[in-house]
Amino acid sequence: MKAKLNRTFLLIAGLAILLTITFSTLIFYQLLVNEVVDNLVSSARLLESTDSFQDKENISYHKEIANLRVTLIGEDGKVYFDSNADIGIMDNHRERPEVGQAFEKGESHSVRHSATMKKDTFYYALKLSNGCVLRVAKESDSLYSIFLGIVPEIIGIVIFILIISYIFTLFFAKGIIKPIEQMADDMDSVNITGGYKELVPFIQKIKDQHTDILRSASMRQAFTANVSHELKTPLTAISGYAELIENGMAEKDDVIRFAGEIHRNSKRLLTLINDTIRLAELDAMEKTIEFEDVDLYEIAENCVNMLQISAEKHKVHISLAGKRCILYANKNMMEELVYNLCDNAIRYNNTGGSVRVQVLERQDLVELSVQDTGIGIPEKSQKRVFERFYRVDKSRSKQTGGTGLGLAIVKHIIAQHNAQITLVSELGKGTEVKVIFSKNTLQEQ
Ligand code: ADP
Repeated sequence: MKAKLNRTFLLIAGLAILLTITFSTLIFYQLLVNEVVDNLVSSARLLESTDSFQDKENISYHKEIANLRVTLIGEDGKVYFDSNADIGIMDNHRERPEVGQAFEKGESHSVRHSATMKKDTFYYALKLSNGCVLRVAKESDSLYSIFLGIVPEIIGIVIFILIISYIFTLFFAKGIIKPIEQMADDMDSVNITGGYKELVPFIQKIKDQHTDILRSASMRQAFTANVSHELKTPLTAISGYAELIENGMAEKDDVIRFAGEIHRNSKRLLTLINDTIRLAELDAMEKTIEFEDVDLYEIAENCVNMLQISAEKHKVHISLAGKRCILYANKNMMEELVYNLCDNAIRYNNTGGSVRVQVLERQDLVELSVQDTGIGIPEKSQKRVFERFYRVDKSRSKQTGGTGLGLAIVKHIIAQHNAQITLVSELGKGTEVKVIFSKNTLQEQ
């Protein structure tokens, strides 16, 4: 990157020098042309005012004006006088551009380049009152020879500027690269100063991503540790009971009891594994969720019907209120969401308690509420229940087949549907969980 920056800066410097030299030479040459033509005009007018060329047969010119070639041409193009050449061998001058134009317009000038390109000849032609054209000419260095003349100086200047630019770009590139190099060395202690504020959001973004990666790595590590720990308990129980049966240490009645324990613990293992797999799936599929129009009321209705047996087992009354409510959402996730909330409301309820499920629609909001008259959640735990494996009362959760992952799955689904979740609970009185979907943000997904 440093080498590329250096190369780019040098290229820009080289180009700038080249353009400056080209344009200044052109401007300089144009000034020279103007100067020479102005001089020629003054000289011609001066000669005109002396009347020396009034009589074309009798010209009194004595080369007063040095370095100037003076020619007098008659209307027919015949040369009557030339200060530098023998008029006897001179051809007809009527077709010379400046002469022809001076006959037509009164005056004109032109430039002709020599064959070797080294010299330019400037002409100025002026029509006199006697009908002849007086032409004055002067030779001067051409643009090409002016340029050739200053080539050594130009090379010197170019080398000098390139050296200065190189030294400057070395420092400049170093300054730009410095924070990036610092960042590569140590992400956390980068300090951007010296006007590189455009780099700040870029560095901040990398820092944030870096923190996110670290955080998610440590979360994954904690999750793996938790999963292993959770799996260990039922597996240890299964292995222990099986060993007792294997060693013939269990009476006939015990065998039935132990088999029951093995069955219960393996069911728990299955639920744990299923929930873990589901969470891993949810973590991975963020971008490939399929959305469709689903009726949230219909989903709640199916869920309530499905949980009827479980509710009866816990001696809890479950009811549903509301009406048809179309949402643009992922159907599977909606089923899981409603199921987990209703299942909790039944499992953490009291005998004779009730669960009320409601689906409401208000303007562009859809609200799902699951309210129970259960044991409630202590205030300090209310925020934490959405964490993976967090349980207020571990034994009650386990006893009712809980894994501590249900609300973590709910939280995930809520996030992927841009919804809001609120939990209001009072210990000993009950809990209400509300999920609010905004139809507008869902449609935008
Ligand atoms: P679990 O599988 O243990 O039910 P969840 O993630 O669904 O896991 O819930 C986490 C914890 O939150 C539960 O262990 C329980 O202590 C508490 N909880 C969840 N829902 C309710 C509720 N409706 N009433 C009382 N406590 C609840």
